[in-house]
Amino acid sequence: MAKPKVAFYWCASCGGCEETVVDLAEDILKVVAAVDIALWPVAIDIKLKDVQAWKPGDVAVAFINGAVRLSEQEEWVKLLREKCSLIVAFGSCAHIGGIPGLANATTKEQIFANKYHLSPTINNPNGTVPQEHSKVDNYDLELPFFWKDVKTLDQVIDVDYYLPGCPPPPNLVAEAVNAILEGKLPPKGSVLAPEKALCESCPRNETKPDDLTIASFKRVSTSTPDPEKCFLAEGYLCMGPATRSGCGERCINGNMPCRGCFGPTPDALDAGLKLLSAIASRGKADTTESSQVLADSLADPLGTLYRFSLPASLLRRRLVDLHENS
Ligand code: SF4
Ligand code: SF4
Repeated sequence: MAKPKVAFYWCASCGGCEETVVDLAEDILKVVAAVDIALWPVAIDIKLKDVQAWKPGDVAVAFINGAVRLSEQEEWVKLLREKCSLIVAFGSCAHIGGIPGLANATTKEQIFANKYHLSPTINNPNGTVPQEHSKVDNYDLELPFFWKDVKTLDQVIDVDYYLPGCPPPPNLVAEAVNAILEGKLPPKGSVLAPEKALCESCPRNETKPDDLTIASFKRVSTSTPDPEKCFLAEGYLCMGPATRSGCGERCINGNMPCRGCFGPTPDALDAGLKLLSAIASRGKADTTESSQVLADSLADPLGTLYRFSLPASLLRRRLVDLHENS
C-alpha cells in the first residue's frame, strides 16, 4: 500500500521549526517509514511546477511554518491548501504571527528605510532598494510583493490544526503525526496541545502567592531571577497565566520567564490583554506616584505582551499610517 505523503513548507520564520523535525531524533526514522515526504524545501529540491502538478488530495497533510508576508508565500500556501487534505499551522509564526509579527508595530516603509538606508552597517551609496520588477542584461527579474502586514496562516488560508510553540516540541509533533496517521484527530480548528495555562504545570507554581502585589517590574537583562521562585512573585513579567501549556516549561527551566510562544489559553481572546488585566489587578497603583512607578518599569509593553501574538491579537497592528499602501 502506498504511504501517505506529507509536505513541509516555510514562510516568514527563522528556520527553528525545521530544526524541530530534525530534533525528532530517531523518531524521524519512524516518520520516514510511515510517510513519504513530498515537499521539504530545506532538504529536498522540489519546484513550484512539481507541486502544481499534484492532484488535490495527493498529499495527506502540509505542515506550514512561518507567518505570511510576501506574495510568493501567499501563492505557495494557497497552492498547498488546494493540493493537501489537511493543513497544520506549524509553530508560533504560522499560528499567531510569532516574532516576525512584531513588524506590525511599524510600517514597511520604515523597515525598508532602516534596512537599506539608515542602519549604521549599511553601505548603499546609490540608495538601491529591491524592486518587484527590474531589467538586468535584458532579463526581466521579479521579486515578491512585500505586504503592509504580517499575517497568520489562517488569515490567508483555511487551517485545519495548529501546532503551537517556538518551535513546537518534538513530542507534540510526534503525537500530531501519529494522530494524523491513525485518523484520531480532534475537531477541526483544534490546537494540538493541552488547554490549561502554563502556570498549572509550572514547577514554580507553589511559590506564586495568592495575594500577589507588583510594585514595579524587573528585567532579566539587569537582574537575575531566583531559580526557585515564581517570576511574577519576584516582579518579572511572566506570560504563564495567559499562555497555553505543553512546551515542557522550557524557558522556566532555563530561568527565563515565559514569553508566550504557545499562544493564549482557549478562554483568552487576546493573550496580551489577558495578562494586562491580570497584572493590572495585581499592580500596586493606589497613588499617582505608585502607578507611575509601575507603568515606567514596564519596558516595551507592546513588544512584551504581544511578543509572539501581535498579528493574531485584537490589535493586529499598530496604526502608524492609515494612508499606507496595502
Ligand atoms: S507566573 Fe510564570 S513562573 Fe509563576 S507559576 Fe506562572 S508560569 Fe510559573
Ligand atoms: S515557557 Fe512560554 S515562551 Fe517558553 S517555550 Fe514555553 S510557552 Fe514558549
